[in-house]
Order: sequence, then C-alpha cells, then structure tokens
Amino acid sequence: MNEFAIERYLNRIIEEREQGEKEKYVSPYFPEYVREVVPDMGLDERVSQLTTEQIERVIKRVIGKQTARLKSIIETCMHCGLCSDACQWYISNDRDPTYAPVAKIRMTLGEMIKRNFKVDPEFIKFCARVVFTECNICHRCSMYCPFGLDITAIIRLVRRICFILGVVPQRQLDQAQTHITFLNQVWLSQNDYLDTLFWREEEGIYELKNLRIPIDKEGAEILWFPLGAEPKTGVDHIDRFAKIMAVAGVDWTMTSKDTWDSSNMSMFINDYFTMERIVRGLYENAKRLRVKRIVLTE
Ligand code: SF4
Ligand code: SF4
Repeated sequence: MNEFAIERYLNRIIEEREQGEKEKYVSPYFPEYVREVVPDMGLDERVSQLTTEQIERVIKRVIGKQTARLKSIIETCMHCGLCSDACQWYISNDRDPTYAPVAKIRMTLGEMIKRNFKVDPEFIKFCARVVFTECNICHRCSMYCPFGLDITAIIRLVRRICFILGVVPQRQLDQAQTHITFLNQVWLSQNDYLDTLFWREEEGIYELKNLRIPIDKEGAEILWFPLGAEPKTGVDHIDRFAKIMAVAGVDWTMTSKDTWDSSNMSMFINDYFTMERIVRGLYENAKRLRVKRIVLTE
C-alpha cells in the first residue's frame, strides 16, 4: 500500500470516528453478531481486491480433502456449552453466545462448508475478524469438550485461509512480514543485531569488569535465543542476562547467524513455510555450535 492509500485510509478512519464512536457493526450474515466498528487496514483494504473465485480456490486448497471430516466435527457438537465456560472471550463479554467457541467455528468454517465454499470477500473479512481478534487460540475450549472436538484446530484452519488470501489484521501482518524478511519480529537486520550485542557488552563492562557476551562459542553449555524486542527496544536485557550468567559462572553463548529470535509470530497466522524456517534455523544454530542446551526468553 503506498503512502497516498495509507493517508486516504487514515482520513476515512478519522471521518468515521467523527461521525460517532458508538457506531456498531452488525454482521449481514449473523444479525446477532453486533460489535464496535474497529477499522483495520489489514482487513479492510485487502478484501476489496479479492474475488469469490479466488476465495473458493483457497478454501478448497486448505480444507478440500478434509471437508467431510470437518463437517462431522462441527455436527457432532451437541451444544452443551461446556467449552464456552473455558473461553475468556465468552466469559468477559457477558456470556454473549456469539463469542462461544462453537459459534466461532459455525459462523466461519461451518458457513463456508454450508455454502459449498462460495463466499464473498466481505464474508472473509468477517471470518478474519472472528478468528484473529476474538480468539487467542489458547486451546482451553478443546480441552473442555467431552467429545474432544478440536475447535482450536478449526480456528487455525480459518486463520490459514485468511492468511493465504492476505486478509490479516495489520499488526499481525506486519509481524509476519518481518519474520519472512529477517526471521525476527522487529525488522532488525543481522548487522544491527550484532552491533547491539557488541554495544551492550561495552555498556555492561562499566558495571562488571571483564563482562563478555560470547558469540559463536562452540560447545558452550547454553545457547541463549532472546526475544526479538530485546536487541531492538529492550537492549539492557542483553547485558543483564550476560551479568547473571557471568555471576552464576555459566558457560553460554549467542549466535552470530540469523534465526536468533525465539518468537514465532508466523504460527499465529499459520504461515507453515516460515514457521518451519524459524524452527529449523534455531535448531541449525544449536547444532552448528554443538551446545548442550537452548535457553529461550519467555
Ligand atoms: S481457543 Fe479461542 S475459542 Fe477456544 S477458549 Fe481459547 S480463546 Fe476461546
Ligand atoms: S463442549 Fe464440545 S460438544 Fe459441548 S458445545 Fe463445546 S464443542 Fe460442542
């Protein structure tokens, strides 16, 4: 999206806000689904470029061969409501049934199957809103269901459909794109990452003489993978970690190669290819350095 498109988009949001913050969105597909209007560039703009044919192709590609199995999972549900009590969205929204886990799959994948995959772009936007912004894929509902219906797996499939169609909330889309580009979630180039490690070692030395941030130390006991934000906005975490390791006398190291960020934001949009690149990269770093253990932030 170019800067003029972004400006147009932001102006539209301002206009909409000026017209009244309390404006409600009522789903044309499920009138009982009533929410605040929340403009989101990642959802609003992309759908205007989609066609029903593209959507049908993508849904078939993602769930085509498992349609009968998924339909049977949805139809096995006896609406006992046990899973609803597991869902923080349902509980924290006055038990509004449109937040119930089973409603989320019926309103999204269930409807796609019912309409034989022929759904319009606005419906995909509706699905993206439900699966990305009203579910944390925490898995609690799946664990509560007496039939073991894996609701979370279905929500993840809908996320994948939306991801392939490019209909993803802007914030998540941005994090996914930075992982695709730099294999970290903060748009940090490899040079900047290494530069930050050298800088933090210099800073740490003021407090602890002979402090080191060992890089690429083969055979170390521990290889530490920080979270993306640490070398970007929480830089003092790096020297704090180094100080703790130094005082504790731990033999540790960090990698000089890419794939050092322990987060995997691609998992939240089900970008399987990048998810694998991240996990493989972390593993390859550990293998190359022949470390005994990996330590991840969080
Ligand atoms: S996975 Fe989603 S629907 Fe299920 S309990 Fe968690 S937030 Fe609710
Ligand atoms: S617990 Fe299982 S059977 Fe009961 S409403 Fe939830 S998904 Fe359906």
